[in-house]
Amino acid sequence: MTKLKVYLAVLLVAAIFTVSGTDPTWAKKSDVVIVLDAGHGGYDSGAVGNGLYEKILTLKIAQYCKAELEQYDGVKVYMTRSNDTFVSLDQRVASAAGVRADAFVSLHINSAASSAAGGAEVFYPNSSYRPALSMQGRKLANAIQGNLVSLGLRNRGLKTLNSMIGSKYPDGSIADYYAVIRGAKNAGFPGIIVEHAFISNAADAKTFLGSSAALKRLGVADAKGIAACYGLKKTGTDTNKLPKTKLNALYGKTSGSVSIGWEKVKEASGYEIFRSDAKNGGYQKVAAVKKAKTVKYTDKSVESGRTYYYKVRPYKIVNGSRITAGFSAAQKVKLLKKPDISVSGSAASATKVRWKKVEGALRYEIYRSASKKGRYQKIATVQNGTFYKDVNKKSNRTYYYKIRAVSNGVRGNTYSSYGMQ
Ligand SMILES: [Zn+2]
Repeated sequence: MTKLKVYLAVLLVAAIFTVSGTDPTWAKKSDVVIVLDAGHGGYDSGAVGNGLYEKILTLKIAQYCKAELEQYDGVKVYMTRSNDTFVSLDQRVASAAGVRADAFVSLHINSAASSAAGGAEVFYPNSSYRPALSMQGRKLANAIQGNLVSLGLRNRGLKTLNSMIGSKYPDGSIADYYAVIRGAKNAGFPGIIVEHAFISNAADAKTFLGSSAALKRLGVADAKGIAACYGLKKTGTDTNKLPKTKLNALYGKTSGSVSIGWEKVKEASGYEIFRSDAKNGGYQKVAAVKKAKTVKYTDKSVESGRTYYYKVRPYKIVNGSRITAGFSAAQKVKLLKKPDISVSGSAASATKVRWKKVEGALRYEIYRSASKKGRYQKIATVQNGTFYKDVNKKSNRTYYYKIRAVSNGVRGNTYSSYGMQ
């Protein structure tokens, strides 16, 4: 959902709330504000069992949940604690009110005297006071519980729990039992308590709490539930957002190498280069360029004299997985064979340089040097011939020659390797 749409939705909700006399604090900003409350902390360990401490597990789940949730658009995530410190229940709710929370999600691990008790359950606000917050809380609880159950946790259901000592809300109705749910309702937003699994159950502890990977699954399940409840969408998951590129250079650098260039695509994290012997099929990936700013590649796995087709597609990594754009249009390059060269003539007379015609060549460049491994200079370009007579030379001096075939590539000439004397 775009921010504008979220904003309009918030205005609509606000209007309904105002009409029905319910709390109007929802009409406050465009981002959905989620406060994650890692239960316990500091001297308050929470439940302990099977070698695990609730306060440590809840913090990790909250951190994984936050990391996942922040990949969505239109959400702002806060935590009531981000390290192992004690924070009172009143402070937790007060800090959520301070950031104008849309929901307060308290993360806990269950425990029971019976080691047989296991599974997940979520507490949401009762319907006695501000019933709209009870409905919102139930919807959020249901979305999270569904995801936890799909991980394999036993389904203990959605629950409300009323005060056992007769505490009342301002309208005289029975208060919720849990302080954070009660406090959130008084402050005007729904608060829920997610009891993920039982620390006192050996199987729950091992399967759902006993590793970072397991805790991450819980945090991600919570985040996906929250995202589903609020209609959040992940950034950049639309593959149509990654446009195609265009080849803007393709030519043979030598008889055995091809230079490929393409237009930069802003959103790309890299590019994949494909090659085939035929225009309309059989393309295979020859390379992946893993730098967003690199827009050229030299393919050295090609053979002299052959024709190749190339195409390129951008890719990007979104949430750990690769999304690719469509392919560029294909372009063709024909590699030129190295010319066979022969040189004749005496030191005193003109030198005759001959070579065999190279298929696909449009012209030939002739180079000369006074020493075999010295600096060669281009002395002539011959169109469509196989012969060059070098008259412009000093007598009684030995020269060395090399030539290469040339044709037109895309934004650059295609060259063969040098045929050497
Ligand atoms: Zn707890």
